[in-house]
Amino acid sequence: MAKLSHRCFLSWVLALALIVAPIGCSKKKAIETRDMQVFQGQTMGTLFTVKTMGGPGGLSRDQVQTDIHQVLDQVDRQMSTYLADSELSCFNRYLKDNWFPVSPDMAFVMTEAIRVSRISGGAFDITVGPLVNLWGFGPGKRRDTPPTAEEIRELFPLIGYQNIAVRLSPPAARKELPGIYCDLSAIAKGYGVDQVAEYLEGQKIVDYLVEIGGEVRARGKNPDKRWWQLGIAAPDREGEIERIVPLKNSSMATSGDYRNYFEKDGIRYSHTIDPRTGRPITHRLASVTVVHPSCTFADAMATAINVLGPEKGLALAKKEKLAVFLIIRDKAGFKEIMTPEFAALLLF
Ligand code: FAD
Repeated sequence: MAKLSHRCFLSWVLALALIVAPIGCSKKKAIETRDMQVFQGQTMGTLFTVKTMGGPGGLSRDQVQTDIHQVLDQVDRQMSTYLADSELSCFNRYLKDNWFPVSPDMAFVMTEAIRVSRISGGAFDITVGPLVNLWGFGPGKRRDTPPTAEEIRELFPLIGYQNIAVRLSPPAARKELPGIYCDLSAIAKGYGVDQVAEYLEGQKIVDYLVEIGGEVRARGKNPDKRWWQLGIAAPDREGEIERIVPLKNSSMATSGDYRNYFEKDGIRYSHTIDPRTGRPITHRLASVTVVHPSCTFADAMATAINVLGPEKGLALAKKEKLAVFLIIRDKAGFKEIMTPEFAALLLF
């Protein structure tokens, strides 16, 4: 695994703040908390935390820790642009236009990515990778000045999810143009969360919380015997929580402009790139949170809505009847907007 960057460490500290510990534990609650097992480690340039209530039948704690690492290492080896020998990097280097065999996992994630591209009219697009790298948000060197208009324009022919095809059986992917380069960073973390959740369910663990760098999936109850309580970070107010969401057997993913960016001449350049302009998003949307049973889908959809911006993003969320929470910058600070499906979650 690549070294954990300082930026990612900070992002993890914030992400951890998202997971709200049981508040005001009584003695009895403290005893119950002892039943909770916590597994932590590094993955995908960030950190993960898994909490389970009760132990898995028949497996030691060490075994579960090892298994979780194995599940996540596999996703990393498949879908990282940061590892030169990952499956994705091999596909990115493949310069022919015939089918390239991939793992069923990668075929599934790429299929989901293309589905979200279609739903969002191309706002979400994994072929945005060359632009991500050009802006210094990929595996290469970071930058503190924007690239030139010419540098951006040169990459446009390579951008467009219509230039890739994916099939599930036998699993394979194909490029229309040899230079196509895919970046799964906005979806594969969510997939990693889903994979760990499925591993835990396979071990008959019914109460758990899985979190990787801020993307979360929870099932069952927390030590307080309530639905797991998740906090949505307040943008630009480090350590503060905007909202607490009870997560009822579901996933929650957030995409924001306030953690991964650089500033030049008073302009903030975020790591979320609008594939239509080739530039980081510039609207007033500070963060988008999506709640959905699939963390893979929630992760991708949060980025898609973030690219679309407050009006079009909200319209899409409403059309798709998604539970979505937006934090928008305005003159007075920040304002919140939520879809009816998200408002319903707060009633639990
Ligand atoms: P999200 O909003 O979920 O995703 C933003 C990212 O998606 C951008 O950084 C960009 O890569 C991409 N993106 C930007 N615009 C679009 C768009 N319009 N459509 C689609 N995608 C877009 N980081 C490291 O520093 N070191 C590592 O070793 C490392 N390994 C990783 C391995 C894997 C398998 C994955 C998935 C990520 C890895 N990362 C690594 C990346 C790191 O964890 C990212 O910062 C993270 O995935 C971005 O997630 P986010 O929640 O911050 O933002």
